Amino acid sequence: MKQVCVDCGAEQTGRDYGTSCSCGGRIEGVQDLSGLDGEKLKALFKERLAERLSVYASGVWRYKELIDPQLPPEHIVTKYEGNTGLYTSGAIREKLGIREVYFKAQSENPSGSFKDNGMTAAVSHGRMLGYTRFACTSTGNTSSSLAMYAAMAGCSSQVFVPSHSVSANKVLQTMAYGAQVIRFDGTYDDGIRFLEQHGNELGLYVCNSVNPLRIEGQKSIIYEIAQSLNWELPEWIVIPGGALSNVSALGKGLSDLHSLGMISKLPRIALIQAEGASPFHRMMAEGREELVPEPKPFTKASALNIGHPPSWQIARRALRLCQGVTCSVTDEEILEAKRMIDRSGIGCEPASASTLAGLTKLMREQVIDKDERALCILTGNLLKDTDILTETVSSPAYAKLTVEAVQKVTA
Ligand SMILES: *Cc1c(COP(=O)(O)O)cnc(C)c1O
Repeated sequence: MKQVCVDCGAEQTGRDYGTSCSCGGRIEGVQDLSGLDGEKLKALFKERLAERLSVYASGVWRYKELIDPQLPPEHIVTKYEGNTGLYTSGAIREKLGIREVYFKAQSENPSGSFKDNGMTAAVSHGRMLGYTRFACTSTGNTSSSLAMYAAMAGCSSQVFVPSHSVSANKVLQTMAYGAQVIRFDGTYDDGIRFLEQHGNELGLYVCNSVNPLRIEGQKSIIYEIAQSLNWELPEWIVIPGGALSNVSALGKGLSDLHSLGMISKLPRIALIQAEGASPFHRMMAEGREELVPEPKPFTKASALNIGHPPSWQIARRALRLCQGVTCSVTDEEILEAKRMIDRSGIGCEPASASTLAGLTKLMREQVIDKDERALCILTGNLLKDTDILTETVSSPAYAKLTVEAVQKVTA
């Protein structure tokens, strides 16, 4: 894998990496696919489904050839992440009146969010370089994931979490894995900037979403979906957008599969942002060339509380490649969709439910047709944010333990 600047195209040399180039541009991983044969890879990936205990049993490292081919396997820190369920729901399909709707439950990852798909790659890379101290800025899920992998690797982690608008569950989970949590006054975007400028000086391996390995690791989500659906994807992939690392990874993963002939047709991407934190959607809708940051992002979907998404250029390329659309949804629409996903038995945190809210809206606007199929990527677990549940579920019934009283409340 080469590390190349998104802006000026300069290749970064050396084993180490920087998250930004000397010109100020973002760095991304670029794979050399020239020696690879798509059909042989399909056979290899299928064979690896029988693995139970090697690193190839992981739903990320199963696809190692497309993620970090040079990494010596002994450096891999894995919890067999990925390997998540792909579901349909009759009730939701009928409610939407769509041909088919799938849910890819990245919420079933070991730390409860899709961040594990990328974090296993970043921490493994950092270990290979000899780092023992890891850091990130986070709205909560990145820090839980980093803290978990650092603990697995016997390393320390320091995480920077804004002092407002972060779910308490995520902070507690992060601390339970043994991370040092540093709260600060400011936004997620301020924390990102700080670590980008001072991470090296502090001797920290920085695992923010701009870490190129995280994006490479997250490509495994679409590889796994494609493999489960026998390399034929639905017409639409619907994904939430905060820092935009996941949609960037989706675009890159689709581009890999298409270039290698492993899928014959690219699906379209629908990127959903939460109103109040939707600078990328606004840029696309207004046809502007530059992103104007949102200085005070706010949404109840706390994982989307990001006003200055660092990966917007790679995200825009993903949308252009896949004839993508963007839309924004209100907190109310998100909570309504969350109720449906929770009641289907699948469950997710608010940010993830923005996908179904967006799908509903795009169908209403006739951007997505009822004869098409859509797949929503559910990014985080139902238990990641229990405060919000007080808004989406009603109070329990109360009854004396007599047959009459119970009959009365259950009637
Ligand atoms: C991080 C996160 C997102 C946003 O993903 P980006 O890559 O930052 O766009 C969405 N949902 C959940 C649950 C997350 O943890």
